[in-house]
Amino acid sequence: MTRGALDEPDLLLNKAYVAGRWIAGDGAPIAVDDPFTLAQFGEIPDVGATGTQAAIDAAEAAFPEWARRPVKERCAILRRWSELILRHKEDLARIITRENGKALKEARAEVDYGNGFIEFYAEYSAHDLGEIIPAPVPGRRLLVEKEPVGVCVAITPWNFPLAMLTRKVGPALAAGCTMVAKPAELTPLTALAFAKLGEEAGVPKGVFSVVTGHSKAIGGAMTASEVVRKLSFTGSTPVGAMLAEACAPTIKRLSLELGGNAPLLVFDDADLDTAIETAMIAKFRNAGQSCVAANRIYVQKGIEDRFLKALAAKIGAMKAGDGLDEANDVGPLIDERAIKKVDEHREDALSHGGELLAGGASPGGRLAQPTLVGHVAPDALLTREETFGPLAGVIGFATVEDGVRLANDTPFGLAAYLCSEDPKTIARVGRDLESGIVGINTGLISTPTAPFGGVKMSGLGREGSHHGLAEYQNLKYLCHAGI
Ligand code: NAP
Repeated sequence: MTRGALDEPDLLLNKAYVAGRWIAGDGAPIAVDDPFTLAQFGEIPDVGATGTQAAIDAAEAAFPEWARRPVKERCAILRRWSELILRHKEDLARIITRENGKALKEARAEVDYGNGFIEFYAEYSAHDLGEIIPAPVPGRRLLVEKEPVGVCVAITPWNFPLAMLTRKVGPALAAGCTMVAKPAELTPLTALAFAKLGEEAGVPKGVFSVVTGHSKAIGGAMTASEVVRKLSFTGSTPVGAMLAEACAPTIKRLSLELGGNAPLLVFDDADLDTAIETAMIAKFRNAGQSCVAANRIYVQKGIEDRFLKALAAKIGAMKAGDGLDEANDVGPLIDERAIKKVDEHREDALSHGGELLAGGASPGGRLAQPTLVGHVAPDALLTREETFGPLAGVIGFATVEDGVRLANDTPFGLAAYLCSEDPKTIARVGRDLESGIVGINTGLISTPTAPFGGVKMSGLGREGSHHGLAEYQNLKYLCHAGI
Protein backbone atom coordinates (compact mmCIF):
# COMPACT_ATOMS: atom_id res chain seq x y z
CA MET A 1 0.00 0.00 0.00
CA THR A 2 1.31 3.47 -0.90
CA ARG A 3 2.28 5.73 1.96
CA GLY A 4 -0.86 7.36 3.39
CA ALA A 5 -3.12 5.89 0.67
CA LEU A 6 -6.80 6.77 0.89
CA ASP A 7 -9.66 4.31 1.33
CA GLU A 8 -11.57 6.43 -1.18
CA PRO A 9 -9.02 7.75 -3.71
CA ASP A 10 -11.73 9.92 -5.32
CA LEU A 11 -11.34 12.31 -2.41
CA LEU A 12 -7.94 13.36 -3.72
CA LEU A 13 -8.86 15.94 -6.34
CA ASN A 14 -6.85 17.92 -8.85
CA LYS A 15 -9.58 20.29 -9.98
CA ALA A 16 -11.22 23.34 -8.44
CA TYR A 17 -14.93 23.27 -7.56
CA VAL A 18 -16.65 26.20 -9.23
CA ALA A 19 -20.38 26.64 -9.76
CA GLY A 20 -21.01 22.98 -9.00
CA ARG A 21 -18.47 21.78 -11.57
CA TRP A 22 -14.93 20.45 -11.24
CA ILE A 23 -12.78 22.65 -13.44
CA ALA A 24 -9.18 22.88 -14.60
CA GLY A 25 -7.35 26.19 -14.88
CA ASP A 26 -5.89 27.87 -17.95
CA GLY A 27 -2.26 27.86 -16.90
CA ALA A 28 0.12 25.26 -15.55
CA PRO A 29 -1.10 23.23 -12.56
CA ILE A 30 0.47 23.97 -9.18
CA ALA A 31 2.18 21.11 -7.33
CA VAL A 32 1.22 20.34 -3.74
CA ASP A 33 4.14 18.80 -1.84
CA ASP A 34 4.28 16.50 1.15
CA PRO A 35 6.36 18.41 3.72
CA PHE A 36 7.88 15.20 5.09
CA THR A 37 9.03 13.48 1.87
CA LEU A 38 9.30 16.79 -0.02
CA ALA A 39 7.86 14.89 -3.01
CA GLN A 40 4.76 15.99 -4.89
CA PHE A 41 1.57 14.68 -3.31
CA GLY A 42 -1.02 16.30 -5.58
CA GLU A 43 -1.69 19.24 -7.83
CA ILE A 44 -4.28 21.95 -8.28
CA PRO A 45 -5.30 24.25 -11.08
CA ASP A 46 -4.77 27.98 -11.00
CA VAL A 47 -8.25 29.29 -11.78
CA GLY A 48 -7.12 32.92 -11.55
CA ALA A 49 -9.43 35.92 -11.63
CA THR A 50 -11.63 34.38 -14.35
CA GLY A 51 -12.44 31.23 -12.40
CA THR A 52 -12.97 33.29 -9.25
CA GLN A 53 -15.40 35.58 -11.07
CA ALA A 54 -17.28 32.52 -12.35
CA ALA A 55 -17.60 31.26 -8.77
CA ILE A 56 -18.81 34.67 -7.56
CA ASP A 57 -21.38 34.83 -10.40
CA ALA A 58 -22.64 31.37 -9.46
CA ALA A 59 -22.82 32.34 -5.77
CA GLU A 60 -24.85 35.42 -6.75
CA ALA A 61 -27.22 33.35 -8.87
CA ALA A 62 -27.68 30.72 -6.17
CA PHE A 63 -28.14 33.22 -3.33
CA PRO A 64 -31.87 34.18 -3.61
CA GLU A 65 -33.12 30.61 -3.55
CA TRP A 66 -30.69 29.46 -0.86
CA ALA A 67 -31.53 32.46 1.35
CA ARG A 68 -35.29 31.80 1.00
CA ARG A 69 -35.06 28.11 1.82
CA PRO A 70 -36.35 27.28 5.28
CA VAL A 71 -33.42 27.26 7.68
CA LYS A 72 -34.31 23.69 8.67
CA GLU A 73 -33.61 22.56 5.10
CA ARG A 74 -30.26 24.32 5.04
CA CYS A 75 -29.42 22.72 8.37
CA ALA A 76 -30.43 19.26 7.10
CA ILE A 77 -27.87 19.59 4.31
CA LEU A 78 -25.20 20.68 6.79
CA ARG A 79 -26.08 17.69 8.96
CA ARG A 80 -25.60 15.30 6.01
CA TRP A 81 -22.30 17.03 5.26
CA SER A 82 -21.20 16.53 8.84
CA GLU A 83 -22.10 12.82 8.69
CA LEU A 84 -20.03 12.43 5.53
CA ILE A 85 -17.06 14.20 7.10
CA LEU A 86 -17.15 11.78 10.02
CA ARG A 87 -17.60 8.79 7.71
CA HIS A 88 -14.46 9.87 5.82
CA LYS A 89 -12.56 11.02 8.88
CA GLU A 90 -9.55 8.79 8.31
CA ASP A 91 -9.13 9.83 4.66
CA LEU A 92 -9.52 13.51 5.51
CA ALA A 93 -6.95 13.13 8.29
CA ARG A 94 -4.51 11.47 5.89
CA ILE A 95 -4.94 14.28 3.35
CA ILE A 96 -4.35 16.86 6.10
CA THR A 97 -1.19 15.07 7.23
CA ARG A 98 0.10 14.61 3.69
CA GLU A 99 -0.28 18.25 2.71
CA ASN A 100 0.28 19.98 6.05
CA GLY A 101 2.63 17.52 7.76
CA LYS A 102 0.95 17.43 11.17
CA ALA A 103 0.94 14.21 13.20
CA LEU A 104 -1.94 11.94 12.20
CA LYS A 105 -3.46 11.99 15.69
CA GLU A 106 -3.63 15.77 15.45
CA ALA A 107 -5.10 15.56 11.95
CA ARG A 108 -7.85 13.27 13.28
CA ALA A 109 -8.47 15.75 16.08
CA GLU A 110 -8.71 18.51 13.49
CA VAL A 111 -11.36 16.58 11.56
CA ASP A 112 -13.43 16.24 14.75
CA TYR A 113 -12.88 19.86 15.69
CA GLY A 114 -13.54 21.13 12.15
CA ASN A 115 -16.63 19.01 11.78
CA GLY A 116 -17.82 20.43 15.10
CA PHE A 117 -18.55 23.75 13.38
CA ILE A 118 -20.69 22.16 10.65
CA GLU A 119 -22.48 20.09 13.29
CA PHE A 120 -22.99 23.02 15.68
CA TYR A 121 -24.47 25.34 13.05
CA ALA A 122 -26.65 22.53 11.68
CA GLU A 123 -28.12 22.15 15.17
CA TYR A 124 -28.13 25.70 16.45
CA SER A 125 -29.17 27.86 13.50
CA ALA A 126 -32.79 26.70 13.26
CA HIS A 127 -33.29 28.00 16.82
CA ASP A 128 -31.79 31.43 16.21
CA LEU A 129 -34.46 34.09 16.85
CA GLY A 130 -35.24 37.66 15.83
CA GLU A 131 -36.48 40.32 18.29
CA ILE A 132 -39.63 42.21 19.16
CA ILE A 133 -38.85 45.53 20.82
CA PRO A 134 -41.45 47.14 23.14
CA ALA A 135 -43.11 50.00 21.21
CA PRO A 136 -42.14 53.51 22.36
CA VAL A 137 -45.60 54.87 21.39
CA PRO A 138 -49.01 53.18 21.00
CA GLY A 139 -49.96 51.60 17.68
CA ARG A 140 -46.50 50.52 16.68
CA ARG A 141 -44.67 47.26 16.39
CA LEU A 142 -40.87 47.16 16.26
CA LEU A 143 -39.33 44.01 14.82
CA VAL A 144 -35.76 42.96 14.20
CA GLU A 145 -35.25 40.32 11.55
CA LYS A 146 -31.99 38.61 10.67
CA GLU A 147 -31.11 38.41 6.99
CA PRO A 148 -28.18 36.66 5.35
CA VAL A 149 -25.40 39.07 4.38
CA GLY A 150 -25.28 37.74 0.79
CA VAL A 151 -22.37 36.42 -1.23
CA CYS A 152 -19.36 35.87 1.05
CA VAL A 153 -15.75 34.96 0.38
CA ALA A 154 -13.35 33.10 2.66
CA ILE A 155 -9.55 33.02 2.57
CA THR A 156 -7.96 30.43 4.85
CA PRO A 157 -4.43 29.51 6.00
CA TRP A 158 -2.46 26.26 5.80
CA ASN A 159 -2.16 25.46 9.53
CA PHE A 160 -5.67 24.00 9.99
CA PRO A 161 -6.74 23.26 6.40
CA LEU A 162 -10.17 21.91 7.40
CA ALA A 163 -11.12 23.67 10.62
CA MET A 164 -10.29 27.21 9.47
CA LEU A 165 -12.69 26.62 6.57
CA THR A 166 -15.56 24.94 8.40
CA ARG A 167 -15.61 27.79 10.96
CA LYS A 168 -16.67 30.02 8.07
CA VAL A 169 -18.70 27.69 5.87
CA GLY A 170 -20.93 26.34 8.68
CA PRO A 171 -22.35 29.68 9.85
CA ALA A 172 -22.35 31.25 6.37
CA LEU A 173 -24.45 28.53 4.77
CA ALA A 174 -26.70 28.12 7.80
CA ALA A 175 -27.44 31.86 7.77
CA GLY A 176 -28.45 31.65 4.09
CA CYS A 177 -25.30 33.14 2.57
CA THR A 178 -23.44 31.62 -0.36
CA MET A 179 -19.66 31.36 -0.24
CA VAL A 180 -16.55 31.17 -2.41
CA ALA A 181 -13.49 29.89 -0.54
CA LYS A 182 -9.79 30.12 -1.33
CA PRO A 183 -7.62 27.73 0.67
CA ALA A 184 -3.87 28.29 1.03
CA GLU A 185 -1.84 27.20 -1.98
CA LEU A 186 0.22 24.89 0.28
CA THR A 187 -2.83 22.97 1.58
CA PRO A 188 -5.73 23.12 -0.88
CA LEU A 189 -6.51 19.40 -1.12
CA THR A 190 -8.39 19.10 2.17
CA ALA A 191 -10.70 21.94 1.09
CA LEU A 192 -11.40 20.19 -2.21
CA ALA A 193 -12.20 16.90 -0.46
CA PHE A 194 -14.50 18.83 1.88
CA ALA A 195 -16.25 20.42 -1.15
CA LYS A 196 -16.70 16.97 -2.71
CA LEU A 197 -18.44 15.75 0.44
CA GLY A 198 -20.60 18.89 0.35
CA GLU A 199 -21.62 18.09 -3.20
CA GLU A 200 -22.54 14.58 -2.06
CA ALA A 201 -24.50 16.02 0.88
CA GLY A 202 -26.67 18.02 -1.53
CA VAL A 203 -25.25 21.55 -1.30
CA PRO A 204 -26.84 23.16 -4.40
CA LYS A 205 -24.64 24.29 -7.27
CA GLY A 206 -23.07 27.69 -6.73
CA VAL A 207 -23.85 27.82 -3.01
CA PHE A 208 -20.28 26.79 -2.16
CA SER A 209 -17.24 26.93 -4.44
CA VAL A 210 -13.55 26.33 -3.81
CA VAL A 211 -11.15 28.27 -6.03
CA THR A 212 -7.49 27.32 -6.12
CA GLY A 213 -4.37 29.01 -7.40
CA HIS A 214 -2.24 32.06 -6.82
CA SER A 215 -3.62 34.26 -4.10
CA LYS A 216 -3.05 37.71 -5.58
CA ALA A 217 -5.31 37.28 -8.62
CA ILE A 218 -7.95 35.36 -6.69
CA GLY A 219 -7.90 37.76 -3.74
CA GLY A 220 -7.99 40.72 -6.14
CA ALA A 221 -11.14 39.43 -7.86
CA MET A 222 -12.78 38.71 -4.51
CA THR A 223 -12.05 42.07 -2.91
CA ALA A 224 -12.88 44.16 -5.99
CA SER A 225 -16.27 42.54 -6.55
CA GLU A 226 -19.34 44.64 -5.74
CA VAL A 227 -21.39 41.46 -5.50
CA VAL A 228 -19.31 40.11 -2.61
CA ARG A 229 -20.73 41.53 0.62
CA LYS A 230 -18.37 39.97 3.13
CA LEU A 231 -14.80 38.71 3.42
CA SER A 232 -13.84 36.32 6.18
CA PHE A 233 -10.09 35.92 6.43
CA THR A 234 -7.83 33.85 8.65
CA GLY A 235 -4.12 34.42 8.33
CA SER A 236 -1.37 36.88 9.08
CA THR A 237 -1.97 40.44 10.24
CA PRO A 238 -0.18 42.14 7.29
CA VAL A 239 -2.23 40.21 4.70
CA GLY A 240 -5.41 40.86 6.72
CA ALA A 241 -4.68 44.58 6.76
CA MET A 242 -4.02 44.59 3.03
CA LEU A 243 -7.28 42.74 2.33
CA ALA A 244 -9.23 45.10 4.61
CA GLU A 245 -7.87 48.02 2.64
CA ALA A 246 -8.86 46.35 -0.64
CA CYS A 247 -12.39 45.77 0.72
CA ALA A 248 -12.84 49.38 1.85
CA PRO A 249 -14.04 50.88 -1.47
CA THR A 250 -16.94 48.40 -1.63
CA ILE A 251 -17.64 48.58 2.16
CA LYS A 252 -17.64 44.82 2.69
CA ARG A 253 -18.26 43.33 6.07
CA LEU A 254 -15.10 41.84 7.49
CA SER A 255 -14.12 39.06 9.84
CA LEU A 256 -10.38 38.98 10.41
CA GLU A 257 -8.78 36.19 12.45
CA LEU A 258 -5.15 37.29 12.51
CA GLY A 259 -1.83 36.69 14.22
CA GLY A 260 -1.48 35.72 17.89
CA ASN A 261 1.71 35.86 20.04
CA ALA A 262 -0.13 34.41 23.05
CA PRO A 263 1.38 34.65 26.53
CA LEU A 264 1.11 31.90 29.17
CA LEU A 265 1.48 33.14 32.76
CA VAL A 266 2.35 30.56 35.40
CA PHE A 267 2.04 31.96 38.93
CA ASP A 268 3.78 30.70 42.06
CA ASP A 269 0.53 29.21 43.36
CA ALA A 270 -0.16 27.19 40.19
CA ASP A 271 -0.57 23.43 40.37
CA LEU A 272 2.62 22.19 38.69
CA ASP A 273 1.03 19.28 36.78
CA THR A 274 -1.75 21.52 35.47
CA ALA A 275 0.75 24.17 34.43
CA ILE A 276 2.88 21.62 32.56
CA GLU A 277 -0.15 20.15 30.79
CA THR A 278 -1.33 23.64 29.88
CA ALA A 279 2.09 24.57 28.49
CA MET A 280 2.38 21.34 26.49
CA ILE A 281 -1.00 21.72 24.82
CA ALA A 282 -0.82 25.48 24.36
CA LYS A 283 2.69 25.33 22.93
CA PHE A 284 2.96 22.08 20.97
CA ARG A 285 -0.46 21.58 19.39
CA ASN A 286 0.13 21.39 15.64
CA ALA A 287 3.91 21.57 16.26
CA GLY A 288 3.44 25.12 17.54
CA GLN A 289 1.97 26.25 14.22
CA SER A 290 -1.16 27.68 15.73
CA CYS A 291 -2.40 31.24 16.11
CA VAL A 292 -3.20 30.52 19.77
CA ALA A 293 0.16 28.86 20.49
CA ALA A 294 1.74 29.97 23.76
CA ASN A 295 4.55 31.88 22.15
CA ARG A 296 5.84 33.42 25.39
CA ILE A 297 5.81 31.42 28.61
CA TYR A 298 6.20 33.65 31.68
CA VAL A 299 6.86 31.82 34.94
CA GLN A 300 6.98 33.40 38.39
CA LYS A 301 10.31 33.04 40.17
CA GLY A 302 9.06 30.83 43.02
CA ILE A 303 7.99 28.00 40.69
CA GLU A 304 10.39 28.59 37.79
CA ASP A 305 13.02 25.92 38.58
CA ARG A 306 10.46 23.16 39.23
CA PHE A 307 8.49 24.17 36.14
CA LEU A 308 11.56 24.13 33.87
CA LYS A 309 12.68 20.73 35.15
CA ALA A 310 9.27 19.13 34.61
CA LEU A 311 8.74 20.78 31.24
CA ALA A 312 12.20 19.74 30.01
CA ALA A 313 11.39 16.11 30.84
CA LYS A 314 8.11 16.24 28.87
CA ILE A 315 9.60 18.01 25.87
CA GLY A 316 12.64 15.75 25.84
CA ALA A 317 10.31 12.74 25.51
CA MET A 318 8.54 14.11 22.41
CA LYS A 319 9.21 12.57 19.02
CA ALA A 320 9.45 14.50 15.75
CA GLY A 321 9.18 12.64 12.44
CA ASP A 322 6.81 11.54 9.71
CA GLY A 323 3.30 12.71 10.63
CA LEU A 324 1.89 9.44 9.25
CA ASP A 325 3.86 7.44 11.81
CA GLU A 326 1.56 7.03 14.82
CA ALA A 327 4.57 7.15 17.18
CA ASN A 328 5.38 10.77 16.35
CA ASP A 329 4.05 13.76 18.27
CA VAL A 330 5.30 16.40 15.89
CA GLY A 331 5.42 16.23 12.11
CA PRO A 332 7.48 18.34 9.74
CA LEU A 333 6.93 22.10 9.61
CA ILE A 334 5.18 23.56 6.62
CA ASP A 335 8.16 24.93 4.70
CA GLU A 336 11.81 25.95 4.73
CA ARG A 337 10.98 29.42 6.04
CA ALA A 338 9.28 27.92 9.08
CA ILE A 339 12.42 25.92 9.98
CA LYS A 340 14.61 28.99 9.51
CA LYS A 341 12.38 31.03 11.82
CA VAL A 342 12.52 28.42 14.59
CA ASP A 343 16.31 28.24 14.26
CA GLU A 344 16.60 32.02 14.33
CA HIS A 345 14.38 32.35 17.43
CA ARG A 346 16.26 29.57 19.26
CA GLU A 347 19.69 31.04 18.48
CA ASP A 348 18.51 34.52 19.43
CA ALA A 349 17.13 33.27 22.76
CA LEU A 350 20.39 31.42 23.49
CA SER A 351 22.55 34.36 22.55
CA HIS A 352 20.59 36.51 25.01
CA GLY A 353 21.46 34.36 28.01
CA GLY A 354 18.89 31.58 27.45
CA GLU A 355 19.72 28.04 28.56
CA LEU A 356 19.03 25.03 26.32
CA LEU A 357 17.10 22.51 28.46
CA ALA A 358 15.68 20.12 25.87
CA GLY A 359 15.93 19.55 22.13
CA GLY A 360 18.18 21.73 20.04
CA ALA A 361 19.08 22.32 16.42
CA SER A 362 16.73 21.18 13.66
CA PRO A 363 17.79 17.69 12.50
CA GLY A 364 17.30 18.34 8.76
CA GLY A 365 14.56 18.37 6.17
CA ARG A 366 11.49 20.12 7.49
CA LEU A 367 11.78 18.65 10.96
CA ALA A 368 12.28 20.79 14.03
CA GLN A 369 13.05 19.17 17.38
CA PRO A 370 10.72 20.06 20.23
CA THR A 371 12.94 22.42 22.21
CA LEU A 372 12.96 24.24 25.53
CA VAL A 373 15.03 27.32 26.28
CA GLY A 374 14.87 28.55 29.87
CA HIS A 375 15.79 31.93 31.37
CA VAL A 376 15.06 33.76 28.14
CA ALA A 377 15.51 37.56 28.17
CA PRO A 378 12.18 39.43 28.14
CA ASP A 379 13.11 41.24 24.92
CA ALA A 380 14.18 38.13 22.95
CA LEU A 381 12.86 37.78 19.40
CA LEU A 382 10.50 34.98 20.41
CA THR A 383 8.64 37.36 22.71
CA ARG A 384 7.93 39.75 19.86
CA GLU A 385 7.25 37.53 16.83
CA GLU A 386 5.15 34.37 16.48
CA THR A 387 7.67 31.50 16.34
CA PHE A 388 5.13 29.14 14.74
CA GLY A 389 7.17 26.09 15.63
CA PRO A 390 7.95 23.64 18.48
CA LEU A 391 10.20 25.97 20.45
CA ALA A 392 9.20 26.88 24.00
CA GLY A 393 10.89 29.90 25.55
CA VAL A 394 10.48 30.49 29.29
CA ILE A 395 10.95 33.94 30.80
CA GLY A 396 10.96 34.50 34.58
CA PHE A 397 9.01 37.28 36.32
CA ALA A 398 8.69 38.57 39.88
CA THR A 399 5.24 39.93 40.74
CA VAL A 400 1.71 39.42 39.43
CA GLU A 401 1.79 42.99 38.08
CA ASP A 402 5.07 42.30 36.24
CA GLY A 403 3.57 39.20 34.66
CA VAL A 404 0.49 41.01 33.39
CA ARG A 405 2.59 43.91 32.08
CA LEU A 406 4.84 41.52 30.13
CA ALA A 407 1.85 39.56 28.80
CA ASN A 408 0.15 42.72 27.51
CA ASP A 409 3.32 44.16 26.00
CA THR A 410 2.36 43.24 22.43
CA PRO A 411 0.22 44.72 19.67
CA PHE A 412 -1.61 41.36 19.48
CA GLY A 413 -4.47 40.04 21.60
CA LEU A 414 -5.88 36.72 20.42
CA ALA A 415 -5.39 34.19 23.22
CA ALA A 416 -3.70 34.27 26.62
CA TYR A 417 -3.33 31.58 29.28
CA LEU A 418 -2.85 31.68 33.01
CA CYS A 419 -2.20 29.02 35.61
CA SER A 420 -3.01 29.70 39.26
CA GLU A 421 -4.97 28.08 42.06
CA ASP A 422 -5.83 31.42 43.70
CA PRO A 423 -9.33 32.65 42.75
CA LYS A 424 -8.28 36.28 43.33
CA THR A 425 -5.30 36.02 40.98
CA ILE A 426 -7.46 34.24 38.40
CA ALA A 427 -10.13 36.94 38.56
CA ARG A 428 -7.70 39.89 38.48
CA VAL A 429 -5.43 38.56 35.78
CA GLY A 430 -8.34 37.24 33.71
CA ARG A 431 -9.78 40.75 33.79
CA ASP A 432 -6.53 42.56 33.00
CA LEU A 433 -5.22 40.44 30.12
CA GLU A 434 -5.76 42.22 26.82
CA SER A 435 -6.95 39.33 24.70
CA GLY A 436 -10.11 37.91 23.14
CA ILE A 437 -9.68 34.48 24.75
CA VAL A 438 -8.25 33.49 28.15
CA GLY A 439 -7.46 29.89 29.01
CA ILE A 440 -7.41 29.40 32.79
CA ASN A 441 -5.56 26.27 33.88
CA THR A 442 -6.02 24.83 30.40
CA GLY A 443 -4.34 25.07 27.02
CA LEU A 444 -7.33 23.71 25.17
CA ILE A 445 -9.66 26.64 24.58
CA SER A 446 -11.21 26.42 21.17
CA THR A 447 -14.60 24.78 20.72
CA PRO A 448 -17.44 25.39 18.24
CA THR A 449 -19.83 26.54 20.97
CA ALA A 450 -17.64 29.43 22.21
CA PRO A 451 -16.65 32.72 20.51
CA PHE A 452 -13.12 32.66 19.09
CA GLY A 453 -11.42 35.87 18.03
CA GLY A 454 -9.02 38.61 19.00
CA VAL A 455 -8.60 42.20 20.07
CA LYS A 456 -5.92 44.73 19.08
CA MET A 457 -4.08 43.65 15.91
CA SER A 458 -5.35 40.07 16.21
CA GLY A 459 -8.50 40.89 14.34
CA LEU A 460 -12.17 41.68 14.12
CA GLY A 461 -15.23 39.53 14.73
CA ARG A 462 -15.76 36.11 16.26
CA GLU A 463 -16.05 32.57 14.95
CA GLY A 464 -18.01 29.81 16.67
CA SER A 465 -21.13 30.06 18.86
CA HIS A 466 -24.15 32.26 18.05
CA HIS A 467 -21.74 35.18 17.70
CA GLY A 468 -20.16 33.41 14.73
CA LEU A 469 -23.57 33.11 13.08
CA ALA A 470 -24.24 36.82 13.60
CA GLU A 471 -21.16 37.59 11.50
CA TYR A 472 -23.14 36.34 8.49
CA GLN A 473 -26.38 38.14 9.31
CA ASN A 474 -27.58 41.69 8.74
CA LEU A 475 -30.13 43.07 11.16
CA LYS A 476 -33.21 44.54 9.57
CA TYR A 477 -35.33 46.76 11.82
CA LEU A 478 -38.97 46.97 10.74
CA CYS A 479 -41.02 49.78 12.25
CA HIS A 480 -44.68 49.02 11.72
CA ALA A 481 -47.08 51.91 12.47
CA GLY A 482 -50.87 52.12 12.56
CA ILE A 483 -51.65 48.81 14.23
P1 NAP B 1 -0.95 34.33 5.29
O1 NAP B 1 0.31 34.36 4.55
O2 NAP B 1 -1.59 35.60 5.68
O3 NAP B 1 -1.96 33.47 4.38
C1 NAP B 1 -3.28 33.22 4.74
C2 NAP B 1 -4.13 33.12 3.51
O4 NAP B 1 -4.08 34.37 2.82
C3 NAP B 1 -3.66 32.07 2.52
O5 NAP B 1 -4.76 31.49 1.89
C4 NAP B 1 -2.87 32.91 1.52
O6 NAP B 1 -2.84 32.33 0.24
C5 NAP B 1 -3.74 34.15 1.48
N1 NAP B 1 -3.06 35.30 0.92
C6 NAP B 1 -1.77 35.67 1.04
N2 NAP B 1 -1.54 36.81 0.33
C7 NAP B 1 -2.72 37.14 -0.25
C8 NAP B 1 -3.14 38.18 -1.13
N3 NAP B 1 -2.29 39.12 -1.55
N4 NAP B 1 -4.42 38.20 -1.53
C9 NAP B 1 -5.28 37.26 -1.12
N5 NAP B 1 -4.95 36.24 -0.31
C10 NAP B 1 -3.68 36.19 0.12
O7 NAP B 1 -0.85 33.51 6.63
P2 NAP B 1 -0.26 32.07 6.84
O8 NAP B 1 1.20 32.20 6.92
O9 NAP B 1 -0.83 31.11 5.87
O10 NAP B 1 -0.89 31.70 8.27
C11 NAP B 1 -0.24 31.98 9.44
C12 NAP B 1 -0.85 33.18 10.11
O11 NAP B 1 -2.25 32.97 10.29
C13 NAP B 1 -0.29 33.39 11.50
O12 NAP B 1 -0.04 34.75 11.73
C14 NAP B 1 -1.41 32.89 12.40
O13 NAP B 1 -1.40 33.47 13.69
C15 NAP B 1 -2.62 33.27 11.62
N6 NAP B 1 -3.78 32.48 12.01
C16 NAP B 1 -4.76 33.10 12.71
C17 NAP B 1 -5.86 32.37 13.13
C18 NAP B 1 -6.94 33.03 13.91
O14 NAP B 1 -8.00 32.44 14.06
N7 NAP B 1 -6.73 34.24 14.40
C19 NAP B 1 -5.96 31.02 12.83
C20 NAP B 1 -4.93 30.42 12.11
C21 NAP B 1 -3.85 31.16 11.70
P3 NAP B 1 -1.53 31.56 -0.31
O15 NAP B 1 -0.97 30.84 0.84
O16 NAP B 1 -2.12 30.67 -1.34
O17 NAP B 1 -0.64 32.62 -0.86
